[in-house]
Order: sequence, then structure tokens, then C-alpha cells
Amino acid sequence: MKTAEIRSRFIDFFVKHQHVDVPSASLLYNDPTLLFVNAGMVPFKPYFLGDEPAPYDRAVSAQKCVRTLDIEEVGKTTRHGTFFQMLGNFSFGDYFKEGAITYAWEFVTGSEEDGCLGFDPETVWVTALHGDQETIDLWQKVGIPRERIQERGLKDNYWHMGVPGPGGPCSEIYIDRGPGFGADGGPEADEDRFLEIWNLVFQQEELSAVRAKDDFDVARQLPSRNIDTGAGLERIALLKQNVANMYEIDEVYPVIQKAAELSGKRYGDDHTDDIRFRVVADHVRSSLMLMTDGVTPGNEARGYVLRRLLRRVIRSMRLLGVSAPVLLELLPVSRDLMRVSYPDIDAAWPRVAEAAEAEEKSFRRTLQSGTVLFDSAVDDARSEHVTTLPGDQAFRLHDTFGFPIDLTMEMAAEQGLTVDRARFDALMKEQKERARADAKSKKGGAASLEAYRELREAGEVPFLGYTDLDVSTRVR
Ligand code: ATP
Ligand code: MG
Ligand code: MG
Ligand code: MG
Repeated sequence: MKTAEIRSRFIDFFVKHQHVDVPSASLLYNDPTLLFVNAGMVPFKPYFLGDEPAPYDRAVSAQKCVRTLDIEEVGKTTRHGTFFQMLGNFSFGDYFKEGAITYAWEFVTGSEEDGCLGFDPETVWVTALHGDQETIDLWQKVGIPRERIQERGLKDNYWHMGVPGPGGPCSEIYIDRGPGFGADGGPEADEDRFLEIWNLVFQQEELSAVRAKDDFDVARQLPSRNIDTGAGLERIALLKQNVANMYEIDEVYPVIQKAAELSGKRYGDDHTDDIRFRVVADHVRSSLMLMTDGVTPGNEARGYVLRRLLRRVIRSMRLLGVSAPVLLELLPVSRDLMRVSYPDIDAAWPRVAEAAEAEEKSFRRTLQSGTVLFDSAVDDARSEHVTTLPGDQAFRLHDTFGFPIDLTMEMAAEQGLTVDRARFDALMKEQKERARADAKSKKGGAASLEAYRELREAGEVPFLGYTDLDVSTRVR
């Protein structure tokens, strides 16, 4: 079952059940708490909070999402993309828990002939917030035995998106991929074997403060009880297509094939290379979708995230052995896969190609000039018979040439050397402290700190450094 078909099955199913089909919002949808849309509910937030009257009682969407928070997971887990599509059905004060659970069960386990997904009911596991007996009863009523319903705490089963925002208990649906994929014992035991596909959120309150994922204050009950659900399209696709991970589905895999062709290496031969192939495929698609929606590479906020994604593609391809330009080889493959569902990609393409080419040129220059310093540091180490490159050199590469530390470390490893990481980290820390003191003493510093603080609170803190997307304050 093609990814595009799963998407339309979902929409059709809920339209049949009186939901209004709402097209995906731009990734840059204007929400002051976010850099990018990261969940299907974001465009509907004002309706949930009661700030605006909902123009319909029920809606369904397939929303483009970007989660920079997941960047380090990409290629290493089977299920995290920086870009993905979230399918969702929404009720604004209309049906609540019973409706959401009944619809989800029918769509997941109903037959393919009837337009559903046709998963074997025996492989379905669900979770509920500890003590949410109503939800547990409803799942048992549709036919899930009690032993496949697990109760979890606030950290896993209360969903919110920070402040200001709605929240509520949630119930998640997992598919057991079978004993070959990991330990028995349900999602509580193993989230690789038990793949989370769908989160049903029972939105009922607005939060006033969030200190941690499971430590928050409730300001008020929402004016209505709502349903907000999010299902990962790519995760359903990987299961229906019987492939190992979300980078091998029909909408993504041809980019891996192209990267393999360019590098002369085979996907599947080497664990480390395979991660690089998957990072390339994921980031190429995210970059394409971000640029289509109007982001250009830059040094701040959204532009920096894009720059980081593009540079990681180039770097990963170099580590796969390709030193020629790659972006205009890889992006068109993703474009041809995604244009079916997102026709606006074609109109944006000339602008996208131009920006990508310019970014690649400038990064190649960076790499070139930095490599001279790098090579001489390697020569010095060799003649001094040491196996560690000084942290000062790594810092200079970072500071003067914009060399990310992981690039320096990987290049060093290729030469059989390591990097004095402790010294590098100490120098980075000193530099950050200097910058902080500078910002305090300079006029205008307050304004930029304010902007920085806002990003921090949104959990999206870019431009701290190439590898350092600090997401420690993120709440979901
Ligand atoms: P996980 O625990 O696997 O990180 P999550 O609990 O953070 O997922 P939710 O916030 O509940 O995810 O999002 C709703 C659904 O969106 C998930 O059930 C999943 O199917 C999908 N999803 C979430 N993050 C990603 C991602 N990075 N890539 C692909 N799909 C995702
Ligand atoms: Mg997650
Ligand atoms: Mg989860
Ligand atoms: Mg979840």
C-alpha cells in the first residue's frame, strides 16, 4: 500500500464520518511558540482554546510536520524523521473518548477492502493514562483484552504543547511487529518492537505553567471537551509496506538508492554507512519541504535549522565517499516523489534549486579552507608521534572556519586520530560565557536575548553551534 494511498484512505474514512477535509497548513504556520508546525493540531489551536469559534465540529487533515527535536534520532531509530506527515481527526466539542476510540479501532483493524488498514487485531496494543478507567473500559468494549492495555504515567500519557496551550490525557496505539523485533511485554517494555502509530488526545484543559513534561499547572477546564489525534503516516506506511524503517518507504527510499548510486556503496552493507544513507534521505526531504514553504538557509532560527540539515546531507555524502556536489542530484529525486501530494513543490523548484546550489557552494568553500588547517594539524600530530589532535585546533576550525566538531572528529578518526574533546568543550564554554557577558554589556543586547529567550521557551533553540541544538527545555 503506497504512502499516498494510506493518506487518502485516512481522509476518506473520516470524511465518510462527517469530518471536513482541511488541507495541510504551511510548515511556517504562524504560531509564536513554534519554529515549525510539529503536530496536526497546531492550526486548530485557537478552536481548542475557545479563542475563535470552530467553523466545523469535526475536521480531518494530513499535516506536514518538522520536529528538530528528533534530529539526533534520525537514521538510528526506525521511526523518527525530521519531516513527517501527521494524519489526524479532530472534534471541537463534538464526539469525545468513545467516538475517538471507536473510529481509530475501526480504521486500524477494519478490512483493506472497506478502505481501512487491515491490521490484525491481535497485534494491537494501547496505553492509557494511569487510572483513566473510562478509556480502559472503552478499549475493552471494542475488543482489546485487558492484558494488551497498559497504563502509563503523565510523562507518556498526558499530551500538551507547552504554554499557552491545551492539554489532556492521551491514549496511544501500538502495533506489535513480532518477536523478531525485540522483547515481549508491550510498549512499556520495547518501543522498537511495539511501534507507536497513533496518539489520541482527550483535550480538556489549558495549562498555565510547564516545568517538565510531567510537571505542570492547569489553569482552567477548556470550554469544550475535544479530540485531537495524530497518526504517523510514515510509520503506518513502513508497516504496510513491510520494510525495516521509515526511510525505506516508497516516498523516501529512492533517495537512498540515488545516494548509493552516487557513492558506489551499497545500502545494507555497513551499519555506519547505512545510518548516513538514512540521514541523507531524511534531511533531503525535510530541506525540500522547508524550502518549498519559503525557508532559506541562514544563521538564525528557521534558516539555521535548514542550513544544518543541508550541511548534514553534504557531510554525510562526503563520509560516504562523494566529494562532488550532491544537492542538485538528490533533491530532484525527492521532488519527484513528493510533488504528487504537494503540487506547490513544482512552482517553488527554481528558487529551491538556486538556494540549495548557493548553500552547497559556500559550505564547500568552508570545508576547503578548513581542510588546510586540519591537514597541517594532522601533520603536526604525526611528526610529534601523538594520536590526539589538540582541542585548540578543533576550536579554531570551529570558530574560524565553521567546522562542526563532529566533522573534525570524523575526519580525525579517518586518519586514526582522536580529538581532545575536553579541551574543545572548555574553549566552547568560555566563548559562550564571553558572548553572554558581551550581550549583557552591549546596548541592544537585551532585545536579542529576549528573542533568544522566546526561542528557548518554545524549546527550539538554534544557532548555538553546529551540533548543539539545545532542546533541554522542550516539553513534548
Ligand atoms: P515517539 O515516542 O515515537 O517519539 P511521540 O510520542 O513523540 O513519538 P506524538 O507526539 O504522540 O509522537 O505524535 C503523534 C504521532 O506522530 C506518533 O504516534 C507517531 O506516529 C508520529 N510521529 C511523531 N514523531 C515522529 C517523527 N519524528 N517521525 C515520524 N513520525 C512521528
Ligand atoms: Mg517523540
Ligand atoms: Mg511516544
Ligand atoms: Mg506519542
